[in-house]
Amino acid sequence: MNIKELFIKLLKFKSITPNDDNAFQFIKNYLNQFERIEINKNGVKNLFLYKKFGDGEHLCFAGHIDVVPAGDGWNSNPFEPVIKEDGTIIARGTQDMKSGVTASLFAMKNATFNGTLSILLTSDEEGEAKYGTLEVLKHLKKINFLPDYAIVAEPTCETEFGDAIKIGRRGSINGIIELFGKQGHAAYPKKSINPIHQIASILPKIAGKNLDNGDNYFAPSKFVITDIRAGMEVTNVTPGYLKLMFNVRNNTLTDKNSIKNFVDTHFKNLDYKLTLSESSKPFVTNPSSKIVKLITSAIEETTSIKPKLSTAGGTSDARFFGEFGIKTIEFGVINDTIHAPNEYTKLEYVEQLSEIFQKVINSF
Ligand SMILES: [Zn+2]
Repeated sequence: MNIKELFIKLLKFKSITPNDDNAFQFIKNYLNQFERIEINKNGVKNLFLYKKFGDGEHLCFAGHIDVVPAGDGWNSNPFEPVIKEDGTIIARGTQDMKSGVTASLFAMKNATFNGTLSILLTSDEEGEAKYGTLEVLKHLKKINFLPDYAIVAEPTCETEFGDAIKIGRRGSINGIIELFGKQGHAAYPKKSINPIHQIASILPKIAGKNLDNGDNYFAPSKFVITDIRAGMEVTNVTPGYLKLMFNVRNNTLTDKNSIKNFVDTHFKNLDYKLTLSESSKPFVTNPSSKIVKLITSAIEETTSIKPKLSTAGGTSDARFFGEFGIKTIEFGVINDTIHAPNEYTKLEYVEQLSEIFQKVINSF
């Protein structure tokens, strides 16, 4: 089976989160020389295939077989790939991320390696991601089999294939500030405590402010207000309660504690309550680590482009690998139609992606 046939085969599975539509059965057969661990929980299927070639380090490829629903606006059946003369392939999952899964599997199929080679696939990345990659990593930790390095084949390129890899991701922290005042008549402001008036002078000091200066790999963490409400939509009553919601996409210089201190500094004289929840932690893989160097030179050799090292964007399953201390990078095809109708990529990119993965495997 050549790489084009493999790609088309995977695209035809209607693997809408968290259903794998039997794609995992196919993949198990495809890599039948690998041993397997399967962890299925709450309707989510996870497949971990591994092979120990030697005593060297453990390199793991990772990704998700699930896709988001097709939605409207397609010019063709999203699960019947259309291939144009110039190699463009249109189908759901071409970018996010059956291209990456195809390239990984194809690179592993006939590989030889000096350590352990594995692939971790989940059917729930696009959903809650609660019982996916995280469950498998917990299990691998328990049996003392965590990889040393991971390559997550999510689409990372911006305008040209080869122009960007991700070496980290920002975290995300959500917050709620509740301000308690005393409701009253608009005509007697002295008899009440108006939380809108209280927060008015604070807002310019917090709205959109940087919580740190960023560093070489991360932009500054920003305090972004997403909602403020108080009052009952009348003009003669001042409210006794105000609620403000915010989000911080934080780098490694800012954490829950520093956000708490920032809020305390500005609200310290008021009656307020702060609630913080961390939905993901930031991570960064050292640019001088082996995995970053190897993938960078493989990309340069294959595409003649020097990729930039990025940490931009939302969260991905790479965060879980980061949390377990695994040196993780992400690299995949151009990301410009993910989750959109008529999602497409080029066969050439998938071939090159697999070639790059093969080079990394061979030079490890
Ligand atoms: Zn994805």
